[in-house]
Amino acid sequence: NNSVYTFGGNAPHSDPRQKDKTITGGKGANLAEMASIGLPVPPGFTITTEECVRYLRDGGDFSDALRADVATALTHIEGAVGKRFGDAADPLLVSVRSGARVSMPGMMDTVLNLGLNDKTVQGLAATSEDARFAWDSYRRFIQMYSDVVLGLDHGLFEEALEIAKEDKGYFADTEMEADDWQALVDEYKGIVAQEQGTPFPQDVNEQLWGAIRAVFDSWDSDRAKVYRRLNDIPGDWGTAVNVQAMVFGNMGDTSATGVAFTRDPATGERAYYGEWLVNAQGEDVVAGIRTPQYLTRAAREAAGAKPLSMEEAMPDAYGQLAKVFDLLENHYCDMQDIEFTVERGKLWMLQTRSGKRTAKAALRMAVEMASEGLIDEETAVLRVDPMALDQLLHPTLDPNAARDVLTTGLPASPGAASGKIVLDADTAEQWAGRGEKVILVRVETSPEDIHGMHAAQGILTARGGMTSHAAVVARGMGRCCVSGASAVSIDMKARTLRIGNRELAEGDTLTLDGGNGQVMAGEVATIEPELAGDFGTIMDWADRHRRMKVRTNAETPADCKMAVQFGAEGIGLCRTEHMFFDANRISAVRQMILAEDEAGRRKALAKLLPEQRADFRAIFEVMAGLPVTIRLLDPPLHEFLPTGDAEFEELAEVTGYGVDHLRRRADELHEFNPMLGHRGCRLGITYPEIYEMQARAIFEAACEVADASGEAPVPEVMIPLVSTRREVELMKALVDKTAGEVFAEKGRTLEYLVGTMIELPRAALMAGEIAEQATFFSFGTNDLTQTTLGVSRDDAGRFLSTYVDKGIFARDPFVSLDVDGVGQLVQLAAERGRATRPDIKLGICGEHGGDPASIAFCEEVGLDYVSASPYRVPIARLAAAQAAL
Ligand code: ADP
Ligand code: MG
Ligand code: MG
Repeated sequence: NNSVYTFGGNAPHSDPRQKDKTITGGKGANLAEMASIGLPVPPGFTITTEECVRYLRDGGDFSDALRADVATALTHIEGAVGKRFGDAADPLLVSVRSGARVSMPGMMDTVLNLGLNDKTVQGLAATSEDARFAWDSYRRFIQMYSDVVLGLDHGLFEEALEIAKEDKGYFADTEMEADDWQALVDEYKGIVAQEQGTPFPQDVNEQLWGAIRAVFDSWDSDRAKVYRRLNDIPGDWGTAVNVQAMVFGNMGDTSATGVAFTRDPATGERAYYGEWLVNAQGEDVVAGIRTPQYLTRAAREAAGAKPLSMEEAMPDAYGQLAKVFDLLENHYCDMQDIEFTVERGKLWMLQTRSGKRTAKAALRMAVEMASEGLIDEETAVLRVDPMALDQLLHPTLDPNAARDVLTTGLPASPGAASGKIVLDADTAEQWAGRGEKVILVRVETSPEDIHGMHAAQGILTARGGMTSHAAVVARGMGRCCVSGASAVSIDMKARTLRIGNRELAEGDTLTLDGGNGQVMAGEVATIEPELAGDFGTIMDWADRHRRMKVRTNAETPADCKMAVQFGAEGIGLCRTEHMFFDANRISAVRQMILAEDEAGRRKALAKLLPEQRADFRAIFEVMAGLPVTIRLLDPPLHEFLPTGDAEFEELAEVTGYGVDHLRRRADELHEFNPMLGHRGCRLGITYPEIYEMQARAIFEAACEVADASGEAPVPEVMIPLVSTRREVELMKALVDKTAGEVFAEKGRTLEYLVGTMIELPRAALMAGEIAEQATFFSFGTNDLTQTTLGVSRDDAGRFLSTYVDKGIFARDPFVSLDVDGVGQLVQLAAERGRATRPDIKLGICGEHGGDPASIAFCEEVGLDYVSASPYRVPIARLAAAQAAL
């Protein structure tokens, strides 16, 4: 197996490993792919990810074999370009680029113009007939290499440049002449020598290996680790290194550099979209140093911008580019994100990959590409990341609400967000950690800000275009972002900012509209999302391909209605205790709990019966004809107890008991470990009259709704926290007896089921026996995770992130089901339950029912449905379809 692969020129591109992202990384694989289909790619080579893993494992040593392979690969570039690396007369220059399997901010930044030294710079000046270009390239190289590879403070170099310009009375970099750059190079070298005690490396091979080493080392940088953790990327993938002949976008007015998308990544519209800069190199576009210009004439005109688009300024090169766009889309069957350079009129391709996109764009592209015949319906369903739908399901700003607009920037990532201004990433993380909504405001963002961007509701930057770091990362994370708002100026010392003529301070509230780039003072009202159009189409397609049903966890008529609009096909979990907390009822609930005996409890329960019946009626009306799983009372009673003096006094008044007496009763009910205490069916076993009242309310309400509307709901009565067959037997008998009584009174019958939650390990193990009584199981994976891991969800915050950091848990097991452990219990219970009762209904109602990875597992086990919170219902529908495909 090769450790190095060459591409471009006459390289073979025949080894399938070369086009495998796991071996050559995303960038390397696609460079080879582009070269092999005949696109103009500067020649180069890729060192495999395997070599990175080996290097890190061996403690940072390059093998002799690798050194030899790199030397050979370098002669491939030299041959293809017709220049030699380090040749003083006519030097080959290269870029050194990192490239992991997936694009990963946090990795080493690219080093351009490598191979320049005091001698080769003269050769470059002579052969290019442009001394200014040569010295500019050299100073860029020293600055980049010193920052990225040598780890020196880039501020020192920027300062030196500023002083040089000031001395000359220049305003812009473009005023610097060849001699000025040359003088600056001397100063730069002085800075390097001073800072690191050794001169800037003149040996081009030392430069090359230094850069390769820096790429490998960057895999284990803190920035990269943070990004991996946030995105569930394994630490053992490693990164590839790409070394590629330089092409120059900074060779005058017929040269340029740019980034482009084959379709609009924000809206999904089928229109080329991009930014470019004349006479510029590489990162100039993304870094936001100069404001990039529009690629197409249409985009320029729509924005009312002056500087010519590439289409107008360089029609020939633009024509080459447009052809490449179409070719690449057809080749990859997906929207491509492209980086290119034009050197003296000739187009060169430097990168392509499937482009990041907003959820809205993902839907539109999937639907349109399917109708264009580029992809089929299944692929379209698989194209949309279910979690990204979250962006669309949440409210946007009310167009009719008043807006105090401070300024307008670029609409870099859609959605709306309000929050308190924070000025750095750490503060964002801290404030968000204590539950505040924050907006991160920066001049521009860098990979070091990722954790803060993640913690923020939205991001505002003063500099940078639509393809700036902030924009790209925000779109990927689904955060709303307004970039390039140049009216924003930040005073980090005073921790204030000025927007136009308005002064604001850290902590003030700001609202962003990522749809149009507006930045507003204060909080602005929001409206509900639009679920028709492309969203509806993808959902219809998803529904055609999924096997599992999708239900919702809801207990208010409003939530039920919303869930039905989102496509819920029933209720998987209606928690009755939420109804007990209602201010008008809590007093009756407390009377019931604190009663001395059954008679006392029954008296209080009689007050609750009509209330519960009304609750269920309202739900049954919304859920007409659909299954509704109602869980009987579950939480430990002590959660309902009065706490403050006022509550005790109020209760004393209604019950006629003294406060002291009530306090004593409350103390008696105190539990050391209520989550494992007097809760779940243990309440129904000890106080059957509670469950009896609830069952009566359910059946009376169901009969009334069936009589009134003709459409009978199907109540599924669920017994919580069982671990034995006998518990279910007793509770089922109680429910059946109550149902019989109600049906006799109402003169009708109804279909209903009695089943159990499976949320204790013993219940999973004894599922075969339990299924003799239960006609359905609903996996309560929140409690099942707590009880299987012996981890209390409410107390896990203190150590869980450390556990995830140290790789003990791949992901938070309360977010994504622990398939290896808890999953076994689910699987085993499903098998044992089915063995006893082949038609037993199986579902999941824990938080995991809305998590795509957990949903995929549910499909594997063959559950009948998943149940998720209302906002997660569309996510679950799509994830269930993807799991089935
Ligand atoms: P990133 O992964 O951060 O995008 P890249 O390795 O793609 O980093 O490099 C960033 C930019 O540097 C490219 O978009 C391109 O403009 C420029 N660049 C990289 N290699 C070359 C090269 N060989 N010739 C000219 N420009 C290059
Ligand atoms: Mg970069
Ligand atoms: Mg790139």
